[in-house]
Amino acid sequence: MSRLYPFADDSMMGREAGTLGNYKGTEYLAAEARRLGLVPAGENGTYFQTLPYKRRTTDSASTVRVGGVTLAHGTDFFGTGFNSVRLTGAPVVFGGTLGDSTRMLSPTRRPARSWSTRCRCRPWRSGACAAPRPRPTPPPSCSRGSTSSSRCCAARPRARSSTTRRAWATPARAAGAVRHARRRGALLRRAARRPRRRRRRPAGRPRRAHHPRARAHPARNVVAVLPGSDPALAAQYVAVGAHNDHVARPPPVDHDSLRLFNRVVRPQGAEDEGKRATPEQQARVNADLAAWRAAHPNSARIDSIFNGADDDASGSMTVLEVAEKLGAMKTKPKRSVLFVWHTGEEKGLLGSEWFTDHPTVPRDSIVAQLNMDMVGRGAAGDVADHGKSGEALRGGPDYVQLVGSRRLSTELGDLVEAVNRDGKYGLRFDYAMDANGHPQNIYCRSDHYSYARYGIPIVFFSTGGHSDYHQVTDEPQYIDYPHLAKVGNLVADAAVRVANLDHRVAVDKPKPDPKGSCQQ
Ligand SMILES: [Zn+2]
Repeated sequence: MSRLYPFADDSMMGREAGTLGNYKGTEYLAAEARRLGLVPAGENGTYFQTLPYKRRTTDSASTVRVGGVTLAHGTDFFGTGFNSVRLTGAPVVFGGTLGDSTRMLSPTRRPARSWSTRCRCRPWRSGACAAPRPRPTPPPSCSRGSTSSSRCCAARPRARSSTTRRAWATPARAAGAVRHARRRGALLRRAARRPRRRRRRPAGRPRRAHHPRARAHPARNVVAVLPGSDPALAAQYVAVGAHNDHVARPPPVDHDSLRLFNRVVRPQGAEDEGKRATPEQQARVNADLAAWRAAHPNSARIDSIFNGADDDASGSMTVLEVAEKLGAMKTKPKRSVLFVWHTGEEKGLLGSEWFTDHPTVPRDSIVAQLNMDMVGRGAAGDVADHGKSGEALRGGPDYVQLVGSRRLSTELGDLVEAVNRDGKYGLRFDYAMDANGHPQNIYCRSDHYSYARYGIPIVFFSTGGHSDYHQVTDEPQYIDYPHLAKVGNLVADAAVRVANLDHRVAVDKPKPDPKGSCQQ
């Protein structure tokens, strides 16, 4: 609690990768690692590994040509997630209406197979690349008048492993683009230009950004090691990780009102984005809110910060707890333990992808990775998630979801069960989210997969989703601390068990292609 409250405090401003808040968070992690006596294992003798993370803005001179019509950036359309890419010949679909989530492309209507499977849409959790961001911030010229009826087109370049590009267009333009695309195949050109040198700007005109800019506050992984006690095994590592970042600030909302609404109408938080209240639900929300207000007079507060207390301050702080516990052992684990707090998970596993592509210890020396993401909730009242056939998964004081624990190594999956049994933790393991082909795609959606793709056996621990998921209401006072501690002790114990084996945990399943698509 004493760590989680400051780490998920409003002053951290959501800890979005590449911002001051995330920078402060990573400073805190490094300071704690130093205090615990961990050895720096980042770059240049520090605890940090900096990502080449930049801000890219669309060239204001960009155009989209559809048939004979040219659409101007900022007036007729704006894009999200554009990179330097040519979209010529890409299929175009109607993605929905901005501000009207009932008309967004839904999972069932999405042409799932035709979209890149290596998509990076974690914040919306629906696993849908084609889905536009529920509430994008429109450029000023778009917010005048017609924002609420702007349309979204989604296009996917033909190149392999490329992702969907989204563009918001005014209703008339969007309709024209989709009609045209249907008629003779899509034609979207030069949605974003290659970054290029800054041009001399004419006097009196504001300068626009044309190229990527380095962040004032770099996105950083925090990396530290507890050296192993057995000279013969200390060069091997058991990795324990979580993500240090969360997401940007949303528009201000009434905290209690949103929380009570989501508990009734959107039990999966952002995962249920777009669900509307039935009249009965609305009546219940109104009654709940009236009762809350009566019991807490003058407590109403406007909230505009995603604190990410569960996602993933819970995991990040528990990694510190594990480090503290292992560091206090009289005889340290035989293998070294590698602690990595990844940045940019919310941006699409960027930090863990970077770390595993550019590891600061030899990649082959990492024998397993234990990942924690959202390990502080899972109460009986929470719908922790849904099983493959749609049944609600209910939490409880001993509830924990395990994902991926046998996907590369049967031995590792068995080992975690043995630790739970022998340590008398009494945790109830729920493997429902690990089902092959589960539509929520959880196996592919947190940092462990960056390791698994290189054939490193992993276990992903989570207490599952809840109505505060990716909401301003994901705050420290709603964390179940005894539950969190139980998960942390289990993970610590599992790390020690793996570290002390007289052999590396055996990989007995096929290794994926590190550059290929993740298969749930
Ligand atoms: Zn997370």
